[in-house]
Amino acid sequence: MNAASTPAVMRVAVMGSTGSIGVSTLDVLSRHPDRFRPFALTAHRNVTRLREQCIAYRPAFAVVASETDAAKLSLELRTANVDTRILWGADALVQIAEHPEVDAVMAAIVGAAGLQSTLAAARAGKRILLANKEALVMSGPLFMQAARSGGATLVPVDSEHNAIFQCMSGSRDMTGGAKQGVRRVLLTASGGPFLRVGREALQGVTPEQACAHPRWVMGRKISVDSATLMNKGLELIEACLLFNLPAAQVEVVVHPQSIVHSLVEYCDGSMLAQLGNPDMRTPIAHALGWPDRIASGVESLDIVKAGRLDFEPPDLERFPCLQLARSAAEAGGTAPAVLNAANEVAVAAFLARRLAFVEIPRIIGVVLAEHSARNSMCSAQLLEDLSLDDVLTADQWARRRAEACVALAAGAYA
Ligand code: NAD
Ligand code: MG
Repeated sequence: MNAASTPAVMRVAVMGSTGSIGVSTLDVLSRHPDRFRPFALTAHRNVTRLREQCIAYRPAFAVVASETDAAKLSLELRTANVDTRILWGADALVQIAEHPEVDAVMAAIVGAAGLQSTLAAARAGKRILLANKEALVMSGPLFMQAARSGGATLVPVDSEHNAIFQCMSGSRDMTGGAKQGVRRVLLTASGGPFLRVGREALQGVTPEQACAHPRWVMGRKISVDSATLMNKGLELIEACLLFNLPAAQVEVVVHPQSIVHSLVEYCDGSMLAQLGNPDMRTPIAHALGWPDRIASGVESLDIVKAGRLDFEPPDLERFPCLQLARSAAEAGGTAPAVLNAANEVAVAAFLARRLAFVEIPRIIGVVLAEHSARNSMCSAQLLEDLSLDDVLTADQWARRRAEACVALAAGAYA
């Protein structure tokens, strides 16, 4: 895709508009009314915020989870003289993602719930601004193939992948395959709120502590993922898929200041990095405007004030999720979907205070090991030839197994 083929006003569907990425996206869009129009907004349960957004942005469509919420919101908006059409349910998300009047889809629903709409956007050849890493991790090569054959343009929003994209000169979008001459990619990790917390103290940490990220303000699920380092694990898989690299070429380095958003090393020894304040509006604006540069509202980075940049290796013993994700990336097939599903279940249980923090990696490890033992008995599972059914079956199986492990552990935790 090049600037010439970009529509004059890009109509954007913001999937997950009430979340952290969704709100930042609307902030950037509202700075460029001449370039973008929020065409559709979607939310799950936060109907209050969605109503405010509909009044402020007047999208053509909005989507909520239930029929009751849809009827209520519809009435409230009519009273406020807003003629947004309200749809409801998972099918409506797909309908919006593939809507003929939508040019770009911001995929910012959290977790597996975003899979079907992101896939629909890929098949319909949309410009996809990809924040929802779980959808990509689950469906992997299937998603990349759908984007290629659908003629979609894929631009990463996750700050690390957006940084890598920029360091790969960003001359083409992510459906184009590997960049020539890349020796390795270094994903930076802030280390999360427990970077300096010892193994013993990790046993008793609370959801509030896990969600108090030192650098980024994010949704609760990704905040816990950052605290366990599973976020970096999911991002490792995301990087392998987006940049067509084997897991061995993707390294993780802890960088507590979160100023360097990732690095790419080339075969000539050059190492390129992208720096900036930790504010998601930078990668969002980059992805929206690419190949142009547009203002994001983010302040200039004061490198003198920042003073120093530290880098250290991750502690794989205190944070086993990173290694689990690396194993899933190497195994391929349905292993990443299993990893993701088990993680979603364990994180939800931790947030609901049914599970201790340190049990999250243990449960994921148990489910992954069981999956690998089952797969080695069942040779019919062809790694390169995954169907959506295979992915969804693996996802459901892993959720059931993880729930059973949580129930067992929860007995001991109560
Ligand atoms: P969030 O929890 O703040 O928002 C999630 C959004 O998804 C909300 O609008 C919610 O209504 C919607 N949603 C939740 N469950 C849904 C369901 N079952 N069906 C339909 N919609 C549903 O999350 P976030 O922090 O904005 O993260 C969104 C995605 O972006 C995640 O995949 C995350 O990993 C990724 N991401 C976030 C950040 C960040 O800084 N927040 C950075 C990089 C990547
Ligand atoms: Mg990230």
